[in-house]
Amino acid sequence: MKTVTILGATGSIGRSTLDVIRRHPDRYRVFALTANSRVDVLLEQIPVFRPSVVVVGSPDAARQLEAGLDDAHRPEVMWGEEALCAVASDANVDCVMAAIVGAAGLAPALAAVRVGKQVLLANKEALVMSGALFMDAVREGRASLLPIDSEHNAVFQALPTGCRGLVEEGVRRILLTASGGPFRTREPSTLAGVTPEEACAHPNWVMGRKISVDSATMMNKGLEVIEAHWLFGAGPDSIDVVIHPQSVIHSMVEYVDGSVLAQLGNPDMRTPIAHALAYPERIESGVASLDLFAIARLDFERPDMKRFPCLALAYEALRAGGGAATVLNAANEIAVSAFLERRLGFTAIADLCHSVLERFCPAEVSSLQDVFDVDRQARALARAAIDA
Ligand code: NAD
Ligand code: MG
Repeated sequence: MKTVTILGATGSIGRSTLDVIRRHPDRYRVFALTANSRVDVLLEQIPVFRPSVVVVGSPDAARQLEAGLDDAHRPEVMWGEEALCAVASDANVDCVMAAIVGAAGLAPALAAVRVGKQVLLANKEALVMSGALFMDAVREGRASLLPIDSEHNAVFQALPTGCRGLVEEGVRRILLTASGGPFRTREPSTLAGVTPEEACAHPNWVMGRKISVDSATMMNKGLEVIEAHWLFGAGPDSIDVVIHPQSVIHSMVEYVDGSVLAQLGNPDMRTPIAHALAYPERIESGVASLDLFAIARLDFERPDMKRFPCLALAYEALRAGGGAATVLNAANEIAVSAFLERRLGFTAIADLCHSVLERFCPAEVSSLQDVFDVDRQARALARAAIDA
């Protein structure tokens, strides 16, 4: 029996995780569920999964949750970041699903890593912003880190078990596939005027709003290039992005002998979630069999860096090193939320990230305190630029 904490239980990844867990009551027990504000969703989840603790984002949400609970299912209710870190590192917990969106997930993910939990990482922003420091904490805490992002989960599956390093294993490059999002073929001159609804209408995946906008700008793929760098130790020249509109091949690994190993499946996050939950075993996820006859063809295109300047920015930030990725991630989070609030145009997301990076690119980030400081300063610069 594995005991699991789900950080971000009310989100798209959190709900898919609970859907897999519900299929295996003999294997998984839920210790804690966390959410920022969706008390209504938590109130549906609590009687089904019977967590010991539930964490929300504010005292108000905690009061609301307490008021909605019935006496048969009364978990301990807590709120705030310290409580998130506590349920991520609790001695009762074996496995933590890190599925909070954005920088807010870094502290609890680190808390889990530091005490050696098995950490299932969906929250790519946490790794992008803290990079080497996060991976150091994984080593020092003897944590095991399993990628949930479908591309990285695919690469993990295509690498040898217990991979010692890409060169030693004969890997030439990693090929991250990308759907190209909803604007892959849209006339570029019309992009400035697209709405949040259009940007969030992803052709293949149903996801949270922030990652949906990131997919439309392809900043998501940029963040994933940086994520792959830290997870697998690959340099920017060994990570290529391939647009593959069907989203059936989730990524590939090319070896020096010319072999290319791919992982395929329907675009449904329950596959990587089930893979990581059960690793190294395999369990049912609820995902339908892949129907290759219905798919009929697989297409590939080179990404157009002019159409998707955010992808180029992410490669530049990775090459620049230091605090560049932290700044890029922070500026992007501010830009995306302003876009979703209709205070910033779609193409201004890339412009804003570019201008913040030009003004602020700290050469060195040597502690987690530095990471949080750089993140805060980059957000302030981005907000000021939007309000100007
Ligand atoms: P979502 O918006 O659907 O859910 C986010 C979750 O985080 C919610 O439970 C919310 O309550 C919680 N949350 C938000 N802000 C918080 C805060 N300040 N403090 C505490 N909790 C907070 O997002 P999602 O699509 O599930 O994505 C979650 C993470 O997984 C992101 O980092 C995303 O990039 C990554 N990811 C998602 C998918 C996908 O298919 N949805 C695929 C790959 C990676
Ligand atoms: Mg992905």
